[in-house]
Amino acid sequence: MDECVFCKIAKGIVPESVVYNDEKVLAFMDIQPVNPGHVLVIPKVHASGLSNLDEETGAHMFKVGMRVADAVKRSGVKCDGVNLLLSDGRAAFQEIFHIHLHVIPRFEGDSLHIGFGRKYRPKPERNELDRIAAKIRDALH
Ligand code: ZN
Repeated sequence: MDECVFCKIAKGIVPESVVYNDEKVLAFMDIQPVNPGHVLVIPKVHASGLSNLDEETGAHMFKVGMRVADAVKRSGVKCDGVNLLLSDGRAAFQEIFHIHLHVIPRFEGDSLHIGFGRKYRPKPERNELDRIAAKIRDALH
């Protein structure tokens, strides 16, 4: 079975332009950047999605993402804002099934567009929000 590409990167088998490396996560340049300075933060353990990533590693990945975002802003790369983006599942545009956090420098007029689809609708009623909140609360327990 072919090992996943991010596992190979985490093990140093596939060369990457690394910006940060510790025992749990690796941060490196996206080879197909949305904008210059686009970094990916990955856990070194294989986890296809959020549901099979341990919380401690997930929290660490986010912490490193925050640090990288701050560094990108101070690096001289064109960066007026940052999107931290994590896609979990095909419907959320996940393409590589080894979870990863995008750190994307943003500026006015860049190539990334995040918009609302045609099905975006007016605000739901409070009782609908309460009903859905109850389902999620139940699932949290
Ligand atoms: Zn993997």
